[in-house]
Amino acid sequence: MPKPALIWLRRDLRLTDHAPIMAALSQGRAVVPVYLADYDVGEWAPGSASRWWLHHSLRALGDSIAECGNRLIIRRGEPLATLLNLCRETGADTVYWHRLYEPDSVSRDARVKRELREHGIEGKSFDGALLHEPSAFLKKDGTPFRVFTPFWKSLLVGLDPPVVHPAPDHLPKIDKGIESLQVDELGLKPSIPWDSTLHGAWTPGEASALRRLGTFAADPVADYQRMRDLPAEDGVSRLSPYLHFGEVTPRQAWHAVKAGDHGHSGGADAFIRELGWREFAHSILFHFPHTTTQPMYDKYREFPWRRDYSALLEAWQQGRTGYPIVDAGMRELWATGWMHNRVRMVVASLLVKNLRIPWQEGARWFWDTLVDADLANNSMGWQWAAGCGADAAPYFRIFNPTRQLERFDPELAYVKRWVPEFGTNDYPEPIVPFAESRDEALAALKSLGDAS
Ligand code: FAD
Repeated sequence: MPKPALIWLRRDLRLTDHAPIMAALSQGRAVVPVYLADYDVGEWAPGSASRWWLHHSLRALGDSIAECGNRLIIRRGEPLATLLNLCRETGADTVYWHRLYEPDSVSRDARVKRELREHGIEGKSFDGALLHEPSAFLKKDGTPFRVFTPFWKSLLVGLDPPVVHPAPDHLPKIDKGIESLQVDELGLKPSIPWDSTLHGAWTPGEASALRRLGTFAADPVADYQRMRDLPAEDGVSRLSPYLHFGEVTPRQAWHAVKAGDHGHSGGADAFIRELGWREFAHSILFHFPHTTTQPMYDKYREFPWRRDYSALLEAWQQGRTGYPIVDAGMRELWATGWMHNRVRMVVASLLVKNLRIPWQEGARWFWDTLVDADLANNSMGWQWAAGCGADAAPYFRIFNPTRQLERFDPELAYVKRWVPEFGTNDYPEPIVPFAESRDEALAALKSLGDAS
């Protein structure tokens, strides 16, 4: 009888399409599913909204594991020492996990694998979080891609995501009882209850992820191309937090959309291309790890940001800029932990270009408030908006929030939903005049010798 396997769960909080679990089962092993709380420490420890999501996602996963006759074990502590203790307690001789691609995760996991081996334990990692392996996917000249279109064209050649493993009905467990913390003991939920509106907007967990994917693939995907820029409509998948926490995988999304009635529609292609941006963001972060806090290109390090910006930053965070589409977006973010992509681009542009506040401040705020906060997507999104990252919008292209509102929310349905005082005397004047602040941004750019 082979020894049990620890399944080290991180951002793969699901049972379907789970290669580490399938590997253990195919070898006839009992499994010990383990979640190590606070494994993600340091600068990019999950923010408040992500911790809220994690709390509920772990509860949902614990229930699913219990339905399969097993138990989710939760421990705290430094990963290597905690995994070694668990191997000793359970008699496991293997630890299986899914790979993550953030720079700190890559180096930590390599160390854990090496040191487990020194203790006679096999540590094995599997892919699943992405459609490609960033380490192995390079241009013909051996350097990483920096531009999306050639990256995606090249990735699409021969891309044939493996079939999805169904979730197991049963997870054989070890005979011995072992100690576990309860999810409630992890302190993930906010101490002051600001989360009631998040509950209204989301149900974290795999079952909800699968429902959402199924619903989206059955119908809205057909119209995705036309609807995806309209924030008042239900035209996008809203799968981002589920993808981030690995409650559903990109290959599940790929297969669900391709196999559906609209699998050959322009909408399906456009949606899958967005999954491609997720791949690209992870590739950029993997190959250019400094891009979480520094511009991808050095010349932007000297950008003359505004000096004393705390009042402007606060007005932006609270949705009081006097630009209705921006304020609607910031309030949607605060209330639901999510913001429509079109509006993310507009609010980011206003912060970085018109208010001339460093993009890192915006990225930090998003990190704390988004339920889908994702280091790769967020860093790339902010650098794209700031014009200093991979395949970014040119700096001189500055979104005009009034024009964006006319184009993408012409009936003001989105604005009225989130900014009820819009159109009354209570609504403020624009915090900075658009044309003037735009000219200042362009002049600042010129000072870097780059305006064209
Ligand atoms: P859909 O339109 O249904 O797209 C499907 C999936 O494709 C998304 O769930 C997401 O995983 C991926 N995707 C879509 N657009 C992008 C993109 N531009 N870049 C990378 N992946 C993409 N996305 C995050 O997941 N986490 C973040 O922290 C994040 N921060 C952002 C910050 C800024 C300033 C900007 C401009 C964009 C950011 N995005 C981020 C990307 C994008 O806005 C969201 O992924 C998208 O709005 C999520 O909604 P959806 O699931 O309905 O997307």
